[in-house]
Amino acid sequence: DLDSTTAPLPSVSKSNNGHRWSDITSYATKKKVQYWFQLPNGNWELGTLMSTSGTESVISLPAGKVLKVNLDSLIPANPDILDGVDDLMQLSYLNEPSVLFNLQYRYNQDMIYTKAGPVLVAINPFKKVPLYDNDYIEAYKNKSIESPHVYAIADTAIREMTRDEVNQSIIISGESGAGKTETAKIAMQYLAVLGGGSGIEYEILKTNPILEAFGNAKTLRNDNSSRFGKLIEIHFSETGKISGAKIQTWANIKFGFVLHMAVLLEKVILQHLVPPEWSNVQREKDLTIYFINCVLVLLVLSEAKKLNLKDVDEYKYLKQSNCYSITRVDDAEQFHIVKEALDVVHVSKEDQESVFAMLAGVLWLGNVSFTMIDNENHVAAAEDESLINVAKLIGCDIADLSLTLSTRKMRVGNDHIVQKLTLSQAIETRDALAKSIYACLFEWLAEQINKSLAVGKRLTGRSISILDIYGFESFDRNSFEQFCINYANERLQQHFNRHLFKLEQEEYIQDGIDWTKVDFDDNQDCLHLFEKKPLGLLSLLNEESTFPNGTDYTFANKLKQHLNLNPCFKGEREKAFTVSHFAGEVTYDTTGFLEKNRDFLHLDSIQLLSSSSCQLPQVFASSMVNQSEKPVVGPLHKAGGADSQKLSVATKFKGQLFQLMQRLESTTPHFIRCIKPNNFQSPGSYEQGLVLQQLRCCGVLEVVRISRSGFPTRISHQKFARRYGFLLVENAAAQDPLSVSVAILHQFNILPEMYQVGYTKLFFRTGQIGVLEDTRNNTL
Ligand code: ADP
Ligand code: MG
Repeated sequence: DLDSTTAPLPSVSKSNNGHRWSDITSYATKKKVQYWFQLPNGNWELGTLMSTSGTESVISLPAGKVLKVNLDSLIPANPDILDGVDDLMQLSYLNEPSVLFNLQYRYNQDMIYTKAGPVLVAINPFKKVPLYDNDYIEAYKNKSIESPHVYAIADTAIREMTRDEVNQSIIISGESGAGKTETAKIAMQYLAVLGGGSGIEYEILKTNPILEAFGNAKTLRNDNSSRFGKLIEIHFSETGKISGAKIQTWANIKFGFVLHMAVLLEKVILQHLVPPEWSNVQREKDLTIYFINCVLVLLVLSEAKKLNLKDVDEYKYLKQSNCYSITRVDDAEQFHIVKEALDVVHVSKEDQESVFAMLAGVLWLGNVSFTMIDNENHVAAAEDESLINVAKLIGCDIADLSLTLSTRKMRVGNDHIVQKLTLSQAIETRDALAKSIYACLFEWLAEQINKSLAVGKRLTGRSISILDIYGFESFDRNSFEQFCINYANERLQQHFNRHLFKLEQEEYIQDGIDWTKVDFDDNQDCLHLFEKKPLGLLSLLNEESTFPNGTDYTFANKLKQHLNLNPCFKGEREKAFTVSHFAGEVTYDTTGFLEKNRDFLHLDSIQLLSSSSCQLPQVFASSMVNQSEKPVVGPLHKAGGADSQKLSVATKFKGQLFQLMQRLESTTPHFIRCIKPNNFQSPGSYEQGLVLQQLRCCGVLEVVRISRSGFPTRISHQKFARRYGFLLVENAAAQDPLSVSVAILHQFNILPEMYQVGYTKLFFRTGQIGVLEDTRNNTL
């Protein structure tokens, strides 16, 4: 225990308050103990305490500088021998600068993984690090290496799945660009090697390039940013071999976003909006998407002739993104990889053709233009090559397509009337159709993958799930997408809290062992703000979405009216509001909230798809109809009538989130927190402020604190006796489990302060079971 042997000073958490400074400093000046001192720029510098008098102290900083500072501004640093420890739990002083320094010390030597008690912290290297070859996999498999690693986490998950016969989950979180998706792939790679043999592991790995090609985009923060969340459940047979897999994706939020940006820009151009509005949109665009995604672009390259496609810059949906790097050879190679992967997961050549045709259809749809037909701003679709190509590609009649995009059928009483659309209505209809086709295509692909991964395989055994889902987001301007994403993260945070704090404490208390309560930030209040019925954010949003006259303004006002007393809520000027999330305050702009929540697709559009002579559009149409069965939100547009009724986006999202949480609840979780060391994707740069903010967001310090003071390993008397009883020198067969357990503890000289005996379980400090396991394995 480094705590007592190497550091005689009391350990300090966030500040020095409450400690006897006279003791500490007289010791410190004698021993030249080092302290952290915060520079005006916010960074921490290591200084040596020279002398103290009263509340003042003199410290010397590296470059020969000597400073007179207030004692309270100094934070104790750890002794040199603790530099770069691989588990933050080993630090004598667990304060923010010490943790930051430790992570940075390791990061500078390409040791990107560090344990924070039970949590693995992974700092994105933004370069290739030599940590992933087969030798490493072998080493973790044989336990001949102990440094923290994703492999070690995956290995623990496999072991615990087998040992405890409980499903496991690896929950990966972090900001956009922090390395979640890479980390998930690294974990999958390890599981595939250890559980491989049946060939299915190859198929599972091949799902990555497919989903990435269709679901990723390039953003300022990440060249390959996932626009979807993913849970992959990998199933194992009794013999520990992978027997199949199941993938669940969450895409609608982000896809909406991708196309929405393109659409928004075009609207701005069309309507000649005033410059300030334009710059707002421009900013949002800069922050988010550069191009829709590589498949669309690469498709242009390789399938151009067959699908009547032209150069990339001919397509409005692509042009707005102004970033299509089709000249790069490795992109072309990427497209080849995708097609090959589609073969591996048994998507037939014929279906692949249809998929590409749908994509091309989406591209051409963006180019459909409209001409004025009267003085009331009504329009008709221009009968040019765009319209003709769309009709051909999605397999429907040109006249039907044209009507769907420029008119709307309505029921008034018992009569059907046809209303002509204005330019902006027509554009909205066109883009909603494009968005729906794209989203359906992604869902359809995920479904094909699942069929392939499950065919003839038993998905009844034990499983390890890997969750890679968009992290907490906070931009200058936050909209509906951030609202949903941050809500999901609030739920995940609660899961994290519950497992690492609440359950821990409850278990100690239940089992009657000595335990000093550790406080943690509970985020239940914030979740209430979102979920309470009828006066929560989601309910009020859904309610306003159903009102024919609801607008973003009325929505914002309603929130202010009902929620202003809630401590997690703050109404802002105009149509904005602020939520106090666990990770900090985020101000949301309600512009577009209602429209995005309704995710409005007219029945005419669905009917158009179902009239198609091709199979895919028909499938899409029927899945859209199925989604509309439960009319929670009826987007009754001003004229009323035959619009499709469907679940609101927020409701669907919440339902999926609850399903996810339910699945996670029944597993033993393993947490990986990815950290982005800088905002420029550049290797070697470590910004203390940025890292600290992320560490605070996910409560890493609290986790370490609680783990250090607790007994993280626990095992029932029975299980302990059964597992290690045979190691006893004296025969203990006739004794009860508790006596056997105690005999084992004595025989192996486990120190009394290293364990506690509860009513039903034994509780150990970290690292205690290792000796027993080694002896057991050597004896077996
Ligand atoms: P997220 O999914 O959190 O948005 P990604 O996993 O896509 O982030 O990572 C962003 C980029 O960072 C990757 O494209 C890759 O270049 C780099 N990266 C992340 N993790 C690693 C790693 N372990 N080794 C090397 N590069 C990495
Ligand atoms: Mg990702």
